[in-house]
Amino acid sequence: MKAEIIAVGTELLLGQVVNTNATFLSEELAALGIDVYYHSVVGDNPDRLAEVLVTAEKRSELIVLCGGLGPTEDDLTKQVAAQHLGQELVRDPAGYAQLDTFFKTRKGVMTENNLRQTLVFKEGIALPNNNGLAVGIFYQNETHAYLLLPGPPSELKKMVLEQAVPLLKQAFPQKEQLISRVLRYYGIGESALAAELADLIEEQSNPTIAPYAKPNEVTLRLTVKTTVPEEGIKQLDELEAVIQSRVGTFFYGYGEQNSLVEVVVDLLKTKGKTITAAESLTAGLFQAILGTVPGVSEVFPGGFVTYSAVMKSKLLDIDPELLAQYGTVSAECAEAMAVQARLAAGTDYAVSFTGVAGPDPLENQPKGTVWIALASASEVKSACYTFSRDRAYIRHSAVMAGLDRIRKELLR
Ligand code: ATP
Repeated sequence: MKAEIIAVGTELLLGQVVNTNATFLSEELAALGIDVYYHSVVGDNPDRLAEVLVTAEKRSELIVLCGGLGPTEDDLTKQVAAQHLGQELVRDPAGYAQLDTFFKTRKGVMTENNLRQTLVFKEGIALPNNNGLAVGIFYQNETHAYLLLPGPPSELKKMVLEQAVPLLKQAFPQKEQLISRVLRYYGIGESALAAELADLIEEQSNPTIAPYAKPNEVTLRLTVKTTVPEEGIKQLDELEAVIQSRVGTFFYGYGEQNSLVEVVVDLLKTKGKTITAAESLTAGLFQAILGTVPGVSEVFPGGFVTYSAVMKSKLLDIDPELLAQYGTVSAECAEAMAVQARLAAGTDYAVSFTGVAGPDPLENQPKGTVWIALASASEVKSACYTFSRDRAYIRHSAVMAGLDRIRKELLR
């Protein structure tokens, strides 16, 4: 079963909107065992859209169109597809009732063009829009199947998950399904990871291994195609065991939606520990990243941003003489910041960051030199790191290194 995704919208061609719908649709179709062979993007132009449809029909059996179902004149996907397929457009009564209620409850006037959103093919299946007003369509003829979906991602996702997936499962029952597992690594680069697994990547067929580099981390997606889910999971377990025996020391968690900060916050919660931070070169970035995790206040009462020497002394009571003697980019400064922050916040741990974000050197230390200290009730330990690239990357690298230090401490 070959599928093709056609995203409609001039804004996509102009680079104003990223085609995230295609990514989402590809993942969902792959999970159904449907192979997506082509992604196309076409502007809001009837002739070119019709042309793309003709091409798609030559090479794909399922054609998914997204975008252009709205009320305005440039929303023409349904009209072009209907004409191309010889389908009459009729009003969907449920879609009309929803539109009518929408305008009545808002005491607004429903203009004529809004009715376009309720149109469906006479011989198609109407897909209700539970996040908007434009009704979707599923239509099959002897040779092809067509899915017409709205452009806004929140509308499209809900329609796909709630309506399209069950319909596609029914229309194209697949014996095989794809099962994926994402493994996340910190502290090893993509090329080093790929080198460690070179033979496995070379030999891969089923399951497959796909490395993916993200800022300061790498993920591996293992995917198996199977007719028996239990068998597939066993195959993934076996492959993962081999992979972890080689690079497991860098592994920190599972899942596409996971992150190092989430793992750290979870560990702090599980162990009933709290943390604070004293930040110089990161200027609050560590705390801002902690703040992205819902419920972090349970383990993080707040912290300190002490950029200048004066603020280090003022907020953290660090002896100016220590700073004068060792400098702010030093083990002594990092350790004093962590110790004092922990005492001031009354937490179990404190992490500190001090260093040179660049582009210029500081205190005769080159760009990228960063000291990170971690203090607990019983000890304080610091380490010097050398990060590369630009200012933003160095600061992010420092935060990730700090998170990893905390993670390892909590697992000790
Ligand atoms: P509307 O009722 O909002 O007009 P529509 O179905 O006509 O819905 P479009 O007008 O094509 O959809 O797109 C509406 C918005 O949805 C776009 O401005 C864009 O922000 C988003 N969008 C459209 N297509 C995509 C896509 N392929 N990927 C991500 N976002 C998209």
